[in-house]
Amino acid sequence: MKPFEQKLWLSSPTMHGDELRYVTEAYESNWMSTVGKNIDEVERIICEKLGCRYAVALGTGTAALHLAVKLAGVNPGDNVFCSDLTFGATVNPVRYEGGKAVFVDSERDTWNMDPAALEKAFELYPGVKVVVLAHLYGTPGKIDEIKAVCDKHGAVIVEDAAESLGATYKGRQTGTFGAYNCISFNGNKIITGSAGGMLLTDDVEAASKARKWSTQAREAAPWYQHEELGYNYRISNVIAGVVRGQLPYLEEHIALKKAIYLRYKEGFKDLPVTMNPYDGQNSEPNFWLSCLLIDEGAMCRQVRGESDALYVSEPGKSCPTEILETLAKFNAEGRPIWKPMHMQPIYRNNAFITREGNGRARTNAYIAGKCMDVGIDIFSRGLCLPSDNKMTPEQQNKVIEIVKRCFE
Ligand SMILES: *Cc1c(COP(=O)(O)O)cnc(C)c1O
Repeated sequence: MKPFEQKLWLSSPTMHGDELRYVTEAYESNWMSTVGKNIDEVERIICEKLGCRYAVALGTGTAALHLAVKLAGVNPGDNVFCSDLTFGATVNPVRYEGGKAVFVDSERDTWNMDPAALEKAFELYPGVKVVVLAHLYGTPGKIDEIKAVCDKHGAVIVEDAAESLGATYKGRQTGTFGAYNCISFNGNKIITGSAGGMLLTDDVEAASKARKWSTQAREAAPWYQHEELGYNYRISNVIAGVVRGQLPYLEEHIALKKAIYLRYKEGFKDLPVTMNPYDGQNSEPNFWLSCLLIDEGAMCRQVRGESDALYVSEPGKSCPTEILETLAKFNAEGRPIWKPMHMQPIYRNNAFITREGNGRARTNAYIAGKCMDVGIDIFSRGLCLPSDNKMTPEQQNKVIEIVKRCFE
């Protein structure tokens, strides 16, 4: 088998032509700054599509999360419950505000925050007021169960729907369940503005605060008058033009991503692996990234340090490192699963809670050979496969073949 002539990407932007039209409109009308029709339209369309009252378009999803955390009222020293198995951008904004992230382990059914671990977290840290919840790889978490725990303890949810735009839970869009929520238009997300993000909320006051904070927090005065700390977080009308051009294609992208997921699932049916799971009864993911989880019994030995990895190849077995290295040899891009936040050196002193209690108190994440820490386990045995919209079935069949060979 020969390597792919053109690199096969994990998830690259897919443009359709309308983007250029709206960018050109911004250019020709000279609305090249942080005000303009493209911004108004993307905010209107997202509210209409997702069913939220207010959307504030910002430079990045991370900026949206930062403002969401501020709106939720996180103060210096506050503990905040956060998804553990996620991208760093989910949790860093808590630190921006001086809060302390307390990481909550994942469950196996959707790889998202475990409601039982969250309940345990409230037992150990009563009085926590904010929960930051991510929907990993486009798969909605157990929202009703999480919401029930939060309601019981009077906590507010900040939803990080950066990866799950267009995914639904019981027919309702992710990004509309929390009080203050985030979506992202980063370059590798399901649709993109090249960058960009949005804060979503049903609270009119919160939306207007976010607008004010994102544009340097000017007061209504003839000069630059400031009573609050401001940020330069607003989106550009040019970037919003790209987003506006992409929005009509969200459903098409989801359909393509779902076809990729299903083709992998079928292709791997005889291998000792499973795909990233979801609750088909209650949710419809956007299938942003297709991921593999290798059965415990089919893992060859693999050791990961802080910046490198080793493995010992074994017939009939494989590991994420071997598969990722093999894909790279064939010019295809995969990615490890997000390394859990509680394993990150920057967060090594933060608490980590599993459904059994304090996950840091254990001397060993493995008890009788079984990994007790769901996040570490998924990180160790899982990987993200090339999931690019533009991958042809023939290319994907070749990826499947490459993965199969790793298990020979
Ligand atoms: C991409 C991403 C973000 C941040 O979005 P940006 O627009 O890149 O700032 C936040 N959370 C998660 C889970 C993401 O994947």
